[in-house]
Amino acid sequence: MTALPGERPCLTDLAVDGYDVLLDLEGARRFHPASVRRWVLARGVRDVDAMTDLPKAFRAALADAWDVRRTRLALASDSDDGTTKLLLELRDGQTIESVLIPEGDRLTLCVSTQVGCGVRCAFCASGLLGVVRDLTSGEIVEQFLEARALAAERGRPLTNLVLMGGGEPLNNFAHVRTALEALIHADGAAFGARRITVSTIGIPKKIDRLEELGKQVNLAISLHAPNEALRGRLIPGLDRVPLDDVLAAAGRYFRRTGREITFEYAVLKGVNDSVECAEELARRLKGVRGKVNLIPWNPVADLPFDRPDDAAVDAMVRTLEARGVRTTVRRSRGRDIDAACGQLRRRFPTGDAVRERDARR
Ligand code: SF4
Repeated sequence: MTALPGERPCLTDLAVDGYDVLLDLEGARRFHPASVRRWVLARGVRDVDAMTDLPKAFRAALADAWDVRRTRLALASDSDDGTTKLLLELRDGQTIESVLIPEGDRLTLCVSTQVGCGVRCAFCASGLLGVVRDLTSGEIVEQFLEARALAAERGRPLTNLVLMGGGEPLNNFAHVRTALEALIHADGAAFGARRITVSTIGIPKKIDRLEELGKQVNLAISLHAPNEALRGRLIPGLDRVPLDDVLAAAGRYFRRTGREITFEYAVLKGVNDSVECAEELARRLKGVRGKVNLIPWNPVADLPFDRPDDAAVDAMVRTLEARGVRTTVRRSRGRDIDAACGQLRRRFPTGDAVRERDARR
Protein backbone atom coordinates (compact mmCIF):
# COMPACT_ATOMS: atom_id res chain seq x y z
CA MET A 1 0.00 0.00 0.00
CA THR A 2 1.13 3.55 -0.50
CA ALA A 3 2.42 5.51 2.50
CA LEU A 4 -0.09 7.51 4.48
CA PRO A 5 0.59 11.27 4.74
CA GLY A 6 3.37 12.07 7.24
CA GLU A 7 4.02 8.38 7.80
CA ARG A 8 7.39 7.21 9.10
CA PRO A 9 8.93 3.91 8.07
CA CYS A 10 8.47 0.93 10.36
CA LEU A 11 11.22 -1.44 11.53
CA THR A 12 9.08 -4.58 11.12
CA ASP A 13 8.74 -3.78 7.39
CA LEU A 14 12.52 -4.10 6.87
CA ALA A 15 13.90 -7.17 5.15
CA VAL A 16 16.05 -9.25 7.48
CA ASP A 17 19.16 -8.05 5.59
CA GLY A 18 17.88 -4.49 5.27
CA TYR A 19 18.66 -3.11 8.72
CA ASP A 20 21.90 -1.46 7.53
CA VAL A 21 19.74 1.44 6.39
CA LEU A 22 19.89 2.47 10.08
CA LEU A 23 23.58 3.30 9.64
CA ASP A 24 22.38 6.62 8.15
CA LEU A 25 21.05 7.69 11.56
CA GLU A 26 23.03 10.10 13.69
CA GLY A 27 25.35 8.34 16.13
CA ALA A 28 25.03 4.96 14.39
CA ARG A 29 27.88 2.48 14.81
CA ARG A 30 28.60 -0.58 12.69
CA PHE A 31 26.97 -3.08 15.08
CA HIS A 32 23.79 -1.07 15.80
CA PRO A 33 21.63 -2.39 12.93
CA ALA A 34 22.15 -6.02 14.01
CA SER A 35 21.36 -5.07 17.57
CA VAL A 36 18.12 -3.33 16.57
CA ARG A 37 17.13 -6.33 14.46
CA ARG A 38 17.66 -8.61 17.45
CA TRP A 39 15.49 -6.40 19.67
CA VAL A 40 12.70 -6.23 17.07
CA LEU A 41 12.55 -9.79 15.74
CA ALA A 42 14.15 -12.04 18.36
CA ARG A 43 13.05 -10.21 21.50
CA GLY A 44 9.90 -8.58 20.15
CA VAL A 45 10.19 -5.21 21.92
CA ARG A 46 7.54 -2.63 21.13
CA ASP A 47 9.48 0.59 21.62
CA VAL A 48 12.95 1.99 21.22
CA ASP A 49 13.42 2.71 24.94
CA ALA A 50 13.45 -1.03 25.59
CA MET A 51 16.62 -1.41 23.47
CA THR A 52 18.77 -0.86 26.50
CA ASP A 53 22.18 -1.84 25.07
CA LEU A 54 22.07 1.00 22.54
CA PRO A 55 23.43 4.47 23.39
CA LYS A 56 20.81 7.07 24.26
CA ALA A 57 21.74 9.39 21.36
CA PHE A 58 21.25 6.61 18.80
CA ARG A 59 18.00 5.54 20.42
CA ALA A 60 16.74 9.13 20.23
CA ALA A 61 17.63 9.35 16.51
CA LEU A 62 15.95 5.98 15.90
CA ALA A 63 12.79 6.93 17.80
CA ASP A 64 12.64 10.20 15.87
CA ALA A 65 12.74 8.58 12.47
CA TRP A 66 11.23 5.09 12.81
CA ASP A 67 8.22 3.28 14.27
CA VAL A 68 9.01 -0.06 15.90
CA ARG A 69 5.54 -1.46 15.25
CA ARG A 70 2.34 -0.21 13.67
CA THR A 71 -0.23 -2.82 14.53
CA ARG A 72 -2.30 -2.68 17.70
CA LEU A 73 -3.69 -5.76 19.41
CA ALA A 74 -7.31 -4.67 19.87
CA LEU A 75 -8.77 -7.83 21.31
CA ALA A 76 -7.85 -11.40 22.25
CA SER A 77 -10.89 -13.70 22.64
CA ASP A 78 -10.54 -17.15 24.17
CA SER A 79 -12.70 -20.04 23.02
CA ASP A 80 -13.97 -22.74 25.37
CA ASP A 81 -11.65 -25.24 23.62
CA GLY A 82 -8.47 -23.18 24.21
CA THR A 83 -8.34 -21.44 20.81
CA THR A 84 -7.56 -17.71 20.96
CA LYS A 85 -8.50 -15.23 18.27
CA LEU A 86 -6.42 -12.06 18.04
CA LEU A 87 -7.97 -9.01 16.45
CA LEU A 88 -5.33 -6.54 15.26
CA GLU A 89 -5.98 -2.99 14.16
CA LEU A 90 -3.76 -1.76 11.34
CA ARG A 91 -2.45 1.76 10.85
CA ASP A 92 -5.25 2.67 8.43
CA GLY A 93 -8.00 1.43 10.76
CA GLN A 94 -8.54 -1.87 8.96
CA THR A 95 -8.58 -5.00 11.09
CA ILE A 96 -7.21 -8.49 10.59
CA GLU A 97 -7.33 -11.65 12.62
CA SER A 98 -4.87 -14.31 13.69
CA VAL A 99 -5.73 -17.46 15.59
CA LEU A 100 -3.76 -19.48 18.14
CA ILE A 101 -4.76 -23.14 18.07
CA PRO A 102 -3.51 -25.53 20.78
CA GLU A 103 -3.54 -29.23 19.92
CA GLY A 104 -1.63 -31.73 22.03
CA ASP A 105 1.96 -30.52 22.28
CA ARG A 106 1.50 -28.12 19.39
CA LEU A 107 0.50 -24.49 19.45
CA THR A 108 -0.18 -23.33 15.90
CA LEU A 109 -0.57 -19.72 14.85
CA CYS A 110 -2.72 -19.02 11.78
CA VAL A 111 -1.98 -15.58 10.26
CA SER A 112 -3.66 -13.42 7.64
CA THR A 113 -1.85 -12.11 4.57
CA GLN A 114 -4.42 -9.70 3.14
CA VAL A 115 -7.31 -7.59 4.41
CA GLY A 116 -10.22 -9.57 2.98
CA CYS A 117 -9.54 -11.93 0.09
CA GLY A 118 -9.96 -11.65 -3.66
CA VAL A 119 -10.35 -15.38 -4.26
CA ARG A 120 -13.90 -15.14 -2.88
CA CYS A 121 -14.52 -18.78 -2.02
CA ALA A 122 -18.29 -19.11 -1.90
CA PHE A 123 -18.21 -20.58 1.61
CA CYS A 124 -15.67 -18.28 3.30
CA ALA A 125 -16.30 -15.26 5.52
CA SER A 126 -12.96 -13.65 4.60
CA GLY A 127 -13.88 -13.56 0.94
CA LEU A 128 -17.31 -12.00 1.42
CA LEU A 129 -16.13 -8.44 0.89
CA GLY A 130 -13.38 -9.18 -1.63
CA VAL A 131 -9.80 -8.02 -1.14
CA VAL A 132 -9.31 -4.61 0.49
CA ARG A 133 -5.51 -4.54 0.36
CA ASP A 134 -2.36 -6.60 0.79
CA LEU A 135 -0.69 -6.66 4.19
CA THR A 136 2.82 -5.27 4.37
CA SER A 137 5.54 -7.68 5.42
CA GLY A 138 5.64 -5.88 8.78
CA GLU A 139 1.93 -6.47 9.34
CA ILE A 140 2.47 -10.20 8.76
CA VAL A 141 5.54 -10.23 11.04
CA GLU A 142 3.68 -8.31 13.77
CA GLN A 143 0.91 -10.93 13.93
CA PHE A 144 3.65 -13.44 14.73
CA LEU A 145 5.32 -11.17 17.31
CA GLU A 146 2.03 -10.42 19.12
CA ALA A 147 1.02 -14.06 19.21
CA ARG A 148 4.47 -15.25 20.27
CA ALA A 149 4.42 -12.79 23.19
CA LEU A 150 0.92 -13.85 24.26
CA ALA A 151 1.86 -17.52 24.02
CA ALA A 152 5.01 -16.91 26.08
CA GLU A 153 2.98 -15.05 28.75
CA ARG A 154 0.78 -18.13 28.98
CA GLY A 155 3.80 -20.43 29.23
CA ARG A 156 3.29 -22.19 25.88
CA PRO A 157 5.71 -21.53 23.04
CA LEU A 158 4.52 -21.34 19.45
CA THR A 159 5.40 -24.53 17.60
CA ASN A 160 3.86 -24.02 14.15
CA LEU A 161 2.87 -21.23 11.80
CA VAL A 162 0.32 -21.49 9.00
CA LEU A 163 -0.48 -18.81 6.42
CA MET A 164 -4.09 -19.82 6.23
CA GLY A 165 -6.03 -16.87 7.70
CA GLY A 166 -7.63 -14.12 5.64
CA GLY A 167 -6.17 -13.67 2.18
CA GLU A 168 -4.37 -15.63 -0.53
CA PRO A 169 -0.66 -15.59 0.44
CA LEU A 170 0.60 -16.11 -3.10
CA ASN A 171 -1.35 -13.05 -4.31
CA ASN A 172 0.84 -11.03 -1.91
CA PHE A 173 4.01 -12.93 -2.73
CA ALA A 174 6.68 -10.24 -2.24
CA HIS A 175 5.50 -9.23 1.23
CA VAL A 176 4.94 -12.84 2.30
CA ARG A 177 8.47 -13.73 1.19
CA THR A 178 10.03 -10.78 3.05
CA ALA A 179 8.03 -11.60 6.19
CA LEU A 180 8.90 -15.31 6.15
CA GLU A 181 12.58 -14.56 5.57
CA ALA A 182 12.52 -12.34 8.68
CA LEU A 183 10.79 -15.05 10.71
CA ILE A 184 12.96 -17.92 9.49
CA HIS A 185 16.44 -16.33 9.39
CA ALA A 186 18.83 -17.15 12.24
CA ASP A 187 19.42 -13.41 12.69
CA GLY A 188 15.66 -12.78 12.64
CA ALA A 189 13.02 -14.60 14.68
CA ALA A 190 14.76 -17.95 14.00
CA PHE A 191 11.49 -19.87 13.60
CA GLY A 192 12.06 -23.22 11.85
CA ALA A 193 10.99 -23.25 8.18
CA ARG A 194 9.84 -26.87 8.55
CA ARG A 195 7.24 -25.64 11.01
CA ILE A 196 5.74 -23.18 8.52
CA THR A 197 2.96 -23.99 6.04
CA VAL A 198 1.89 -21.73 3.19
CA SER A 199 -1.69 -22.47 2.19
CA THR A 200 -2.83 -21.45 -1.28
CA ILE A 201 -5.77 -21.93 -3.56
CA GLY A 202 -3.20 -23.08 -6.16
CA ILE A 203 -1.44 -20.59 -8.43
CA PRO A 204 1.04 -22.69 -10.43
CA LYS A 205 3.51 -19.91 -11.37
CA LYS A 206 3.73 -18.72 -7.76
CA ILE A 207 4.01 -22.25 -6.38
CA ASP A 208 7.05 -22.64 -8.62
CA ARG A 209 8.57 -19.56 -6.92
CA LEU A 210 7.97 -20.80 -3.37
CA GLU A 211 11.40 -22.35 -3.35
CA GLU A 212 12.80 -18.83 -3.07
CA LEU A 213 12.03 -19.38 0.62
CA GLY A 214 14.29 -22.43 0.73
CA LYS A 215 13.27 -26.03 0.44
CA GLN A 216 11.75 -26.59 3.85
CA VAL A 217 8.51 -24.64 3.93
CA ASN A 218 5.40 -26.85 3.72
CA LEU A 219 2.78 -26.33 1.03
CA ALA A 220 -0.97 -26.80 1.42
CA ILE A 221 -3.26 -26.47 -1.61
CA SER A 222 -7.00 -25.90 -1.20
CA LEU A 223 -8.83 -28.02 -3.76
CA HIS A 224 -12.38 -28.15 -2.33
CA ALA A 225 -13.62 -30.03 -5.41
CA PRO A 226 -12.51 -32.93 -7.58
CA ASN A 227 -13.32 -31.29 -10.94
CA GLU A 228 -13.17 -27.95 -12.78
CA ALA A 229 -16.91 -27.29 -12.87
CA LEU A 230 -17.49 -27.63 -9.14
CA ARG A 231 -14.21 -25.93 -8.27
CA GLY A 232 -15.11 -22.97 -10.51
CA ARG A 233 -18.46 -22.63 -8.71
CA LEU A 234 -16.96 -22.82 -5.24
CA ILE A 235 -13.95 -20.59 -6.01
CA PRO A 236 -15.19 -17.91 -8.41
CA GLY A 237 -12.04 -15.74 -8.12
CA LEU A 238 -9.79 -18.51 -9.36
CA ASP A 239 -9.39 -17.27 -12.94
CA ARG A 240 -10.05 -20.77 -14.19
CA VAL A 241 -6.64 -22.25 -13.50
CA PRO A 242 -6.91 -25.85 -14.73
CA LEU A 243 -6.84 -28.33 -11.86
CA ASP A 244 -4.30 -30.45 -13.74
CA ASP A 245 -1.91 -27.46 -13.83
CA VAL A 246 -2.31 -27.00 -10.06
CA LEU A 247 -1.61 -30.68 -9.40
CA ALA A 248 1.38 -30.61 -11.76
CA ALA A 249 2.82 -27.64 -9.81
CA ALA A 250 2.22 -29.57 -6.56
CA GLY A 251 4.15 -32.51 -8.01
CA ARG A 252 7.05 -30.26 -9.02
CA TYR A 253 7.18 -28.74 -5.53
CA PHE A 254 7.33 -32.20 -3.98
CA ARG A 255 10.06 -33.40 -6.36
CA ARG A 256 12.20 -30.33 -5.73
CA THR A 257 11.75 -30.06 -1.97
CA GLY A 258 10.76 -33.52 -0.74
CA ARG A 259 7.98 -31.84 1.31
CA GLU A 260 4.73 -33.75 1.13
CA ILE A 261 1.78 -31.61 -0.03
CA THR A 262 -1.44 -31.30 1.96
CA PHE A 263 -4.61 -30.97 -0.13
CA GLU A 264 -7.27 -29.09 1.81
CA TYR A 265 -10.91 -29.86 1.05
CA ALA A 266 -13.73 -27.92 2.74
CA VAL A 267 -16.66 -30.35 2.94
CA LEU A 268 -20.09 -28.81 2.27
CA LYS A 269 -23.27 -30.78 2.85
CA GLY A 270 -24.91 -31.91 -0.39
CA VAL A 271 -22.35 -30.02 -2.53
CA ASN A 272 -19.05 -31.92 -2.47
CA ASP A 273 -19.50 -34.53 0.27
CA SER A 274 -20.54 -37.57 -1.79
CA VAL A 275 -18.71 -40.85 -2.20
CA GLU A 276 -18.60 -40.05 -5.96
CA CYS A 277 -16.71 -36.84 -5.20
CA ALA A 278 -14.24 -38.80 -3.05
CA GLU A 279 -13.77 -41.38 -5.84
CA GLU A 280 -13.14 -38.66 -8.41
CA LEU A 281 -10.71 -36.90 -6.07
CA ALA A 282 -8.77 -40.13 -5.53
CA ARG A 283 -8.51 -40.62 -9.32
CA ARG A 284 -7.33 -37.04 -9.74
CA LEU A 285 -4.63 -37.39 -7.09
CA LYS A 286 -3.21 -40.63 -8.47
CA GLY A 287 0.55 -40.29 -8.67
CA VAL A 288 0.68 -37.03 -6.67
CA ARG A 289 2.51 -37.39 -3.37
CA GLY A 290 0.44 -35.84 -0.59
CA LYS A 291 -2.43 -36.27 1.81
CA VAL A 292 -5.99 -34.97 1.85
CA ASN A 293 -7.26 -32.96 4.81
CA LEU A 294 -11.05 -32.86 4.95
CA ILE A 295 -12.45 -29.79 6.73
CA PRO A 296 -16.14 -30.13 7.63
CA TRP A 297 -17.44 -26.64 6.88
CA ASN A 298 -18.21 -24.29 9.76
CA PRO A 299 -21.44 -22.29 9.69
CA VAL A 300 -21.22 -18.66 8.59
CA ALA A 301 -24.39 -16.56 8.77
CA ASP A 302 -25.64 -15.34 5.35
CA LEU A 303 -23.93 -18.16 3.45
CA PRO A 304 -26.11 -20.83 1.84
CA PHE A 305 -24.25 -23.94 3.00
CA ASP A 306 -24.61 -26.52 5.76
CA ARG A 307 -22.15 -28.50 7.80
CA PRO A 308 -21.85 -32.07 6.43
CA ASP A 309 -23.06 -35.06 8.43
CA ASP A 310 -20.31 -36.99 10.21
CA ALA A 311 -21.42 -40.12 8.36
CA ALA A 312 -20.80 -38.45 4.98
CA VAL A 313 -17.32 -37.31 6.05
CA ASP A 314 -16.52 -40.80 7.37
CA ALA A 315 -17.62 -42.31 4.04
CA MET A 316 -15.33 -39.91 2.17
CA VAL A 317 -12.41 -40.90 4.41
CA ARG A 318 -13.06 -44.61 3.80
CA THR A 319 -13.35 -44.09 0.04
CA LEU A 320 -10.13 -42.10 -0.23
CA GLU A 321 -8.14 -44.37 2.07
CA ALA A 322 -9.35 -47.47 0.20
CA ARG A 323 -7.84 -45.94 -2.95
CA GLY A 324 -4.50 -45.29 -1.28
CA VAL A 325 -4.98 -41.58 -0.46
CA ARG A 326 -3.91 -40.77 3.08
CA THR A 327 -6.71 -38.70 4.61
CA THR A 328 -7.20 -36.73 7.81
CA VAL A 329 -10.18 -34.77 9.12
CA ARG A 330 -9.53 -31.38 10.66
CA ARG A 331 -11.30 -30.96 13.94
CA SER A 332 -12.28 -27.31 13.88
CA ARG A 333 -11.48 -25.29 16.96
CA GLY A 334 -12.80 -21.97 18.17
CA ARG A 335 -16.23 -22.21 16.58
CA ASP A 336 -17.85 -20.34 19.50
CA ILE A 337 -15.69 -17.24 18.77
CA ASP A 338 -15.85 -17.44 14.94
CA ALA A 339 -12.18 -18.39 14.81
CA ALA A 340 -12.62 -21.64 12.96
CA CYS A 341 -11.55 -22.08 9.35
CA GLY A 342 -13.65 -19.91 7.01
CA GLN A 343 -15.14 -17.84 9.83
CA LEU A 344 -12.55 -15.09 10.19
CA ARG A 345 -13.40 -11.43 9.63
CA ARG A 346 -17.03 -11.63 10.63
CA ARG A 347 -17.48 -10.16 14.05
CA PHE A 348 -15.32 -7.07 13.59
CA PRO A 349 -15.09 -6.45 9.87
CA THR A 350 -13.62 -2.96 10.10
CA GLY A 351 -11.66 -0.70 12.40
CA ASP A 352 -14.90 1.22 12.99
CA ALA A 353 -16.19 -1.77 14.92
CA VAL A 354 -13.11 -1.69 17.14
CA ARG A 355 -13.57 2.00 17.82
CA GLU A 356 -17.28 1.49 18.55
CA ARG A 357 -16.40 -1.25 21.00
CA ASP A 358 -13.74 0.91 22.67
CA ALA A 359 -16.20 3.79 22.93
CA ARG A 360 -18.72 1.55 24.69
CA ARG A 361 -16.18 0.65 27.39
S1 SF4 B 1 -10.95 -19.75 1.95
FE1 SF4 B 1 -8.96 -18.69 1.83
S2 SF4 B 1 -8.69 -18.28 -0.37
FE2 SF4 B 1 -10.88 -18.70 -0.06
S3 SF4 B 1 -11.84 -16.66 0.22
FE3 SF4 B 1 -11.33 -17.54 2.26
S4 SF4 B 1 -9.33 -16.65 2.76
FE4 SF4 B 1 -9.62 -16.44 0.53
